[in-house]
Amino acid sequence: MTTFDLVIKNARILLASGILDADICVSQGKIASIGISESREASRIIDAKENLVLPGLIDPHVHFRDPGLTQKEDFLSGSKGAVAGGVTTVFDMPTTQPVVTSASLLKEKIGVVKPRALCNFGLIGAAGVENLDEIPSLASAGAIAFKTYMVSPPKERTREYSGSYVTSSGDLYKVMEKVAQTRLAHCIHAESDSTIACLTDKLHSEGRKDPMAHYDSRPNFTEAEAVYDALLLSEVLHAKLHIVHVSTSEATGLIKDAKKRNLNVSSETCPHYLCFTRELLRTKGPFAKYNPPARNLLDVKTLLDALNDGTIEIVSTDHAPHTKEEKEQGRDDIFKAPPGTPGVETRLPILLRMAHEGLIDLEDIPKLTSESAAKRFDLYPRKGVIAEGSDADLAIVDYNIDWSVDASKLQTKAWETVLFDGMKVRGKVTHTIVNGQVSYEEGAGFGAPGLGEMVTAERKGQT
Ligand SMILES: [Zn+2]
Repeated sequence: MTTFDLVIKNARILLASGILDADICVSQGKIASIGISESREASRIIDAKENLVLPGLIDPHVHFRDPGLTQKEDFLSGSKGAVAGGVTTVFDMPTTQPVVTSASLLKEKIGVVKPRALCNFGLIGAAGVENLDEIPSLASAGAIAFKTYMVSPPKERTREYSGSYVTSSGDLYKVMEKVAQTRLAHCIHAESDSTIACLTDKLHSEGRKDPMAHYDSRPNFTEAEAVYDALLLSEVLHAKLHIVHVSTSEATGLIKDAKKRNLNVSSETCPHYLCFTRELLRTKGPFAKYNPPARNLLDVKTLLDALNDGTIEIVSTDHAPHTKEEKEQGRDDIFKAPPGTPGVETRLPILLRMAHEGLIDLEDIPKLTSESAAKRFDLYPRKGVIAEGSDADLAIVDYNIDWSVDASKLQTKAWETVLFDGMKVRGKVTHTIVNGQVSYEEGAGFGAPGLGEMVTAERKGQT
């Protein structure tokens, strides 16, 4: 009889086609077989107790702030939150300090984060005009994708973030051309820099600094303007475009049209765009500040439709923690608050609640949270699917529990700023398995930091 490293008994595997009742056998970090058991020998047996088993979630958009900004989060607290939320792989954004603009900085970052990682991680490289020549070597060093902001950081921080943003179509052209040559995905934060600067100046001159001024400085069309530019350039440059955190009906419409024309584009939205409207700025002030801002009910409905019809393929989190003190700097002047909100741990229970309420299909959740990202970023079928030969990255979830988020129990260092605090959600993660090892078990705690591995894209067609 074969002895496996791990057997998960009595699993209800959630597939696009429905639920498969089976045992999952794991050897050397990979799924060795799936089936109804005869007797099995294993070093460890987990009884899933007929709970749902999902492919380990992938979150292609987190800011774990390590190195350099660890008062907000570090790779240990960030990845604890990830695995407690069923996430087995994250892609960390390059806006740590220093910004990841070169192969040597990428290598340094690996050295810092790998020993702390409780989940697998891909590292996204920054792409701007200042580091054009570094882009090919960043790709060779293992960057999973590139990120470019089409909007500049606050004036006093432009030096700090140099190499991660562009402020003109010409610069975007140069950067996108260079990234396209790597065949890696190009993640674009699409907001129009010059229009936002113009509106912000206007609001300043009117003395506006109330929370709603944040929305008024970045209205819907400023996202659509930037998405339109990015789509046009990506078409002529044959780029592999991924629009991050889509928030508006206007941008969704543009992406839908582009897909009809077979452009190489994908996109993501986040729970905070699906759960909140801009009214939240009135009640939560700087805590509800993120870019792009929360929108209107019509946008929420459009985003849900877009997830259901496949226009938007991925729900990421844009987990972007800041300390309470940092957020409170925007109490009397919203422009002084840093943008972003944490969410890596709460994505799955929010989506399960939405499925329970009939807003999305339960069977679509593995696709929205894992499979589509694995395919788009060239990790599939190693990841993103429960299949023989795939990596044993799994989340076991008791779907039948309704509960309310208690932010003080979340792993993020920025728990005091969590907007989902008190929200009714569904489904508790009981176990998270990363590369065949138990990284999180409800009630028992976490695995050994460092068990997460770095993941790199299998670049197809690269010469
Ligand atoms: Zn982000």
